[in-house]
Amino acid sequence: MVGIARFRDFVIALTRMAEEDVPEARWLGEGKALLAELIRRDDWLPESCAAAGPTYRQYLLHCDPLERFSVVSFVWGPGQRTPVHNHTVWGLVGMLRGEEISKEILPGAPMRRGRVDHLRPGEVVAVSPNLSDIHVVENALPDRSSVSIHVYGANIGAVSRSVFDPETGAERRFVSGYSNPALPNLWDRSAEAR
Ligand code: FE
Repeated sequence: MVGIARFRDFVIALTRMAEEDVPEARWLGEGKALLAELIRRDDWLPESCAAAGPTYRQYLLHCDPLERFSVVSFVWGPGQRTPVHNHTVWGLVGMLRGEEISKEILPGAPMRRGRVDHLRPGEVVAVSPNLSDIHVVENALPDRSSVSIHVYGANIGAVSRSVFDPETGAERRFVSGYSNPALPNLWDRSAEAR
């Protein structure tokens, strides 16, 4: 975890943006650039937050104390995918390791497939109720895990949102929670203080 300081600096930069109360467009612009810089190198994510499970995993890496944003690592094992879901707040998805496919899903009965993004390491895409907010995400690789880093404009694990039945379009309430009971320690700066 040699690069944990880079993740800490990322959190600090996002916190400064939150303090400025920037509009969504700036999160999706400047925030996207910050996330692209963070995921340019894969040397900082703690292994405990990159482990696959029996279904996809979502590990909280940091939540702003005022819940203005959160940062989450998503891990898909081979063959794993999310349900069709929405977010209700803006989000940024940056590919760190492996590859994933995000398929936009359009309302209807049955629901229709929209744009397809095939994400490779270093790429960042946005979701938002103001752009397109419903999608399904899956691991694009058959033989190993894929890991992406997400930033959302809320404490996403506690947001009441929806999953959808793609055949009927029926909507069901969904609160995702998080897979980890403890957060990475970003704040042990003793080595530089000594
Ligand atoms: Fe999503």
